[in-house]
Amino acid sequence: MALARDTDEAKVEAGRLQRWLQAARAMPGAAARHMVGLVYPPTCAACSAATGEPHGLCATCWGSLSFISRPYCERLGTPFALDLGGALISPAAMADPPVFERARAVAGYDDTARTLVHKLKYGDRMELAVTMGGMMLLAGRELLAEADLIVPVPLHRFRLWRRRFNQAAALAQVIGGRAGITVDCDALRRVKRTRPQVGLSRNERAENLQGALRVADGARPRLEGKRVLLIDDVLTTGSTANASARALLRGGAKAVDLLVFTRVIPGA
Ligand SMILES: [Zn+2]
Repeated sequence: MALARDTDEAKVEAGRLQRWLQAARAMPGAAARHMVGLVYPPTCAACSAATGEPHGLCATCWGSLSFISRPYCERLGTPFALDLGGALISPAAMADPPVFERARAVAGYDDTARTLVHKLKYGDRMELAVTMGGMMLLAGRELLAEADLIVPVPLHRFRLWRRRFNQAAALAQVIGGRAGITVDCDALRRVKRTRPQVGLSRNERAENLQGALRVADGARPRLEGKRVLLIDDVLTTGSTANASARALLRGGAKAVDLLVFTRVIPGA
């Protein structure tokens, strides 16, 4: 019964992560860094070079991240390539408005951001969620100030079982814990197993996700009238975020904002 055994292992792993995150989020930043420093040697989270401070990035990797700051489109959070003379909304957002209200990201999807996301997703360095979540806390401070509830983008159970770790939920737990906002990991469900989105066109992605995300039975009272902050690690075309936002709005949410660690910047 390989399946049963793996499922049990996944449960143990999930329990361990949960306990670790609960400990980490209950602590102020410095204490959490100290705790992590006891477990891991102080190396850069991205390139593994030695660093003075545990669980941060080395100066080179920090400097190589394309941090996103204003001026950017107030809807999509994409930096303006040209000075549009005080414009607040990008032409892209006007032409094709997203279902979510506002999106914010720490950095553009460059090599360092990609490495961090990959390590969080497939690696076993769970303290990365604290590093990346801390950065998201800053990038999303305006959204967090208004958020009633935090909801991570869910993985399908099958993929959760295979990968054993929902990186969006880990980030959400860190952010919610530090911001003092309730995190609801059960509100949104993937009800259909979707093909991986990689390599699909924009239309194919939307089709792939049709009906795949739904608010869980019984979650409506928790969402009713709430401003929800949706959390994910990466924003690419926005198909998953829009499908999630649509499901949350149908499920009673008043508005949905989106906070990710990194996003693909069209044309960059
Ligand atoms: Zn580094």
